Amino acid sequence: MKIFKNFSLQEHNTFGIQVITDYYIQIEDRGDLNLLTEQIDFSNDKYFILGVGSNILFTNNFNGYIIQNRCSEIKVTEQNNVYSIIRADAGCIWDNFVEFCLNTGVYGAENLSGIPGTVGASAVQNIGAYGREVSEFIYKVEFFDLIEKQFKTISANDCKFTYRNSIFKNELKDRALITSVTYRFPKKNELKINYADLEIYFSTNKIEINPISIRNAVLLVRNSKLPDYKITGNAGSFFKNPIVDSIKFKHLLSIFPDLKYFPVEENKYKIAAGWMIDKCGLKGFVYENAAVHEKQALVLINKTGKATGREILELSEIVKAKVFNTFEVTLESEVIIL
Ligand SMILES: Cc1cc2nc3c(=O)[nH]c(=O)nc-3n(C[C@H](O)[C@H](O)[C@H](O)COP(=O)(O)OP(=O)(O)OC[C@H]3O[C@@H](n4cnc5c(N)ncnc54)[C@H](O)[C@@H]3O)c2cc1C
Repeated sequence: MKIFKNFSLQEHNTFGIQVITDYYIQIEDRGDLNLLTEQIDFSNDKYFILGVGSNILFTNNFNGYIIQNRCSEIKVTEQNNVYSIIRADAGCIWDNFVEFCLNTGVYGAENLSGIPGTVGASAVQNIGAYGREVSEFIYKVEFFDLIEKQFKTISANDCKFTYRNSIFKNELKDRALITSVTYRFPKKNELKINYADLEIYFSTNKIEINPISIRNAVLLVRNSKLPDYKITGNAGSFFKNPIVDSIKFKHLLSIFPDLKYFPVEENKYKIAAGWMIDKCGLKGFVYENAAVHEKQALVLINKTGKATGREILELSEIVKAKVFNTFEVTLESEVIIL
């Protein structure tokens, strides 16, 4: 376990916000977790478990402990004709895990290629992209219960996965330090390309559709649409796509016939938040050192590299207010604001 005092988090959040934490603790071994409970009083002290900070907006210095799990082993634990089971430590970089799967001949995660962040956060966030969500493959999650000071395992069914949400953001928030995630990939994996960008890519490029070509396509499309956070700080989609009932949906469609939406379940429709922000004329809108990205309105950026968390937060409030005034729909942040 490594402990740093008065530590800058600028390189530990993809917005690149300069804030200081009182303590920064890196977990490098399972045994460190017991030492951690001697260091921190989890019932009283302020703490936060950080992955690589690709979904976080720091608005202030952090007066407490930031804890990062850096264990990153990946292991195939079971293979048969029906499925492959792979366990990865929480600190493993998500895209390294996807690459490992494909190199091992295990398919399913290819649509989730290129999502920044860690394996641990994949379960917290129920990450998703290009027609897939990671909860389709999660089998179980092991965590260290910081209050009861013991390791526990929870099955996927009990993780309460929904859109970008899980038990780890609710009942187990600030209590479960995820140590590993075990995934179960069916051998008969149905390749999924029924997503507009992927359909266009494969119909124009006439390339054979297989898991590797899907990964390459996803990486290409992502790079063409999203700003590289290493150059322009951002945390991907700042807002969730709001879900409305059929009455609200029909009302919106009658006013905005070009409304961009996806039916999600009976009588529920997901409205594209990026389309709404764009419709409000906010694409490229600049506020102090922050801005709405000029190509992808769902992404807020640290335009000059000098933005404070407050400036990005204030920009998000402006966007929310304009969207509400135009559509009477409240946008919810996907990014966690600290
Ligand atoms: C350019 C860009 C593109 C993106 N595209 C997508 C996308 O397509 N789809 C998508 O779903 N997301 C996307 N994101 C968001 C982000 O990549 C995901 O939310 C990712 O899972 C966050 O991982 P992280 O390790 O950075 O977690 P952090 O942002 O550090 O933390 C996220 C949450 O997970 C918790 N957490 C992290 N590790 C642990 C642990 N070991 N135990 C317990 N809790 C933990 C944190 O406390 C926090 O609540 C994008 C972000 C960027 C910057």
